[in-house]
Amino acid sequence: MIPSAFKFYKPDNISKAVSLMKDFGEEARVIAGGHSLIPIMKQRLTDIKHLIDLSGIDEIKGINITGDEISIGAMTTQVELINNEELFQKAPIIREASLQIADPQVRNLGTIGGNVANGDPANDMPGLMQLLDATYKLSGTNGSREVKARDFYEGAYFTSREDDEILLSISFESPSGGYAYEKQKRKIGDYATAAAGVIIKVENNKCSSASIALTNLSDTPVYCNKAVDMIVGKEIDNDLLDRVTKTCVDQSDPVADQRGPVEFKKYVAGIVIKKALKRAIERV
Ligand SMILES: Cc1cc2nc3c(=O)[nH]c(=O)nc-3n(C[C@H](O)[C@H](O)[C@H](O)COP(=O)(O)OP(=O)(O)OC[C@H]3O[C@@H](n4cnc5c(N)ncnc54)[C@H](O)[C@@H]3O)c2cc1C
Repeated sequence: MIPSAFKFYKPDNISKAVSLMKDFGEEARVIAGGHSLIPIMKQRLTDIKHLIDLSGIDEIKGINITGDEISIGAMTTQVELINNEELFQKAPIIREASLQIADPQVRNLGTIGGNVANGDPANDMPGLMQLLDATYKLSGTNGSREVKARDFYEGAYFTSREDDEILLSISFESPSGGYAYEKQKRKIGDYATAAAGVIIKVENNKCSSASIALTNLSDTPVYCNKAVDMIVGKEIDNDLLDRVTKTCVDQSDPVADQRGPVEFKKYVAGIVIKKALKRAIERV
């Protein structure tokens, strides 16, 4: 289908983009890679009168690494995340997870900013950013502010971003320990039926720190705080991993859809969580 008519703007800096957002309010939307937005415009599921293209704004592109501090501009594409060697050295889970997003065509244009700002529970980056305890930097008519990824998501396609705010960058510390991102999908290129990310540190067979997050198992990403509390400080054995897995599954709240009924999704969740835990521990 063809989208309804809209006006197109291509500002070259953030203040111009924010000012356009302010002028046109609810009738305006920014576009990044367009891989989530254009399909819904074509299906006329959204009626946008003013489309503001962020691709001319250099200040929100690229990856900056200083010591263990990593900052990624919102307009950085998924393929750039995959190909950046320094990022791979500092946070290899980003490459592992990004390679599981869609296909090369989507990853060539799809951006990290669009992926996390969209609020789609099926997107992989929001769970990954909760796993890394990332911080989002936003700019709007009231100035700039920072929000933790773990506080950003409110429901499917609802986030704490105000209508006039643009996501500028995402920052987090280089994670240490073993890591794994496990994703079960119906076919290559599909969104997750269930996915789980784990980062874990183990010293003398005892877990000294952990982070666990889930994708597409609720209307927001799920940060498994109860399971994290359960595993930290404990000696790792199979029984503990089973209990941790069950606690994560209990915290999930999937809905039945074309990817299966709730029972099936919870079953798949158990498998990906256990696999991610085991693989992350092997990599410590
Ligand atoms: C066939 C197919 C398969 C896919 N499979 C997966 C998958 O397996 N996993 C996955 O994670 N994703 C998947 N995607 C989605 C893909 O990764 C998208 O590119 C991504 O979710 C959105 O990024 P984008 O840059 O294309 O954003 P856009 O489509 O341009 O924008 C998405 C939304 O975010 C808003 N937005 C964008 N940038 C900003 C910003 N800087 N500040 C504020 N708001 C902003 C837009 O206004 C819009 O509402 C798939 C897409 C397709 C078409």
